[in-house]
Amino acid sequence: MRHGGDVAVSVSRLVDFLSGHAERLGAELHHGFSVRELLVRDGAVTGVRLGDVGRDRDGRPKPNYRRGETVRARITIIADGTRGVLSTQFAGLAGGGANPQVYSLGIKAVVQFPGPSPFGSRRAVHTIGYPDPGVFGGGFVYSMGEKAAAVGLILGLDWRDGELSPQREFEAFRAHPFVAGLLRDGVAVAAGARTIPEGGYFALNRLSAAGALVAGDAAGLVNVEKLKGLHYAVRSGICAADTAWEALERNDVGAAALATYRDRLAARGILDELRHARNFRQSFRWGLPAGVALSILQSHLPVRLGMAEDRRATRPDGRHPRPDPGGMDAATFVALSGSSHREDEPSHIALIDPARCLGCSEALGAPCAHFCPGAVYRAADGGPVLSPSNCLHCMTCMVKCPRDNIRWLPPEGGEGPRYRQL
Ligand code: SF4
Ligand code: SF4
Repeated sequence: MRHGGDVAVSVSRLVDFLSGHAERLGAELHHGFSVRELLVRDGAVTGVRLGDVGRDRDGRPKPNYRRGETVRARITIIADGTRGVLSTQFAGLAGGGANPQVYSLGIKAVVQFPGPSPFGSRRAVHTIGYPDPGVFGGGFVYSMGEKAAAVGLILGLDWRDGELSPQREFEAFRAHPFVAGLLRDGVAVAAGARTIPEGGYFALNRLSAAGALVAGDAAGLVNVEKLKGLHYAVRSGICAADTAWEALERNDVGAAALATYRDRLAARGILDELRHARNFRQSFRWGLPAGVALSILQSHLPVRLGMAEDRRATRPDGRHPRPDPGGMDAATFVALSGSSHREDEPSHIALIDPARCLGCSEALGAPCAHFCPGAVYRAADGGPVLSPSNCLHCMTCMVKCPRDNIRWLPPEGGEGPRYRQL
């Protein structure tokens, strides 16, 4: 886990930088719409369908209504991030890994200081076991230049407590005297949350099929042992581009031609690194002390350790409500994410069967009213009441609802959190 010579970067700024680069090289970037569905014919991906634009809250077309267009492509590279709608559809078609994918939720803020950062301008601190040693994950503080630092907490979504609020856990972490001392006089100026696929090697989905390749978090290319995800996103994007280029030149976009993508990932060391960490995340199923010991031995185990879906972990006896740690409330957290959605559009989040919520509320305390870092769900007598305009697009609800009762689709387009510094 030793790293040297690394830099801490803002992902949103890195993406801006890379997209400017791509445009200068002649790539066309299209924004302002969402992609709803993969188009598949005879087992081959043939393109995507975009979402409709201009419907009112009840789904009726408004004067600016535009039906979602169909975009045909010889090769579609799916890179819609963790628990993406398209990559989930692709995994259903092409097949998933031996283990189910499991996730963590990363919750983070950028803190600005009035003068030079007391934390220092070239420093990284990682923590483990706080605020709840029963939850897999850990905290971090990174320098972000001379006057800012990023502080965050990663929580394995297989937590048991139906009333655990990640946003409260984050505030409890920030309130710890050690962390508070590192960040003294700092003011949070940006915040956000996102799930991270952590299942690793045994949870990898199929990486290609006729007409399609999957890259980055969408494919589950994250190494929890080395804390590498962004690196793999960039490297797998390069591998996908090289594979697509070669396939188009040979005029063969069939499954066998695109399967060379896996060889490219192997040649860049990604698959070997993931294989080395193949039982790492599973080692922590038995708690932190056992997990630390087992994680050192895991690469020598001759067996595959299994994992269950995160949604199955919540238990009625797991409830240990945390006293309010103070700090930022949920509304401030959402405001700092800059999230915005058109108020009169159809909700992009829906309960599949509201009747399923009744038993869940009684037994588990309506976990959605706690696990959503955007405070989208409010517990009520007849089931949760939704405020979709708060949504941070983190995908926790699709992973953690114990009854698999939530349907999340991308909203119209150009909406969601506005991360500028994260
Ligand atoms: S949406 Fe899911 S978590 Fe929320 S009350 Fe219904 S079943 Fe439970
Ligand atoms: S509604 Fe779902 S995707 Fe949106 S912020 Fe809440 S948990 Fe995340």
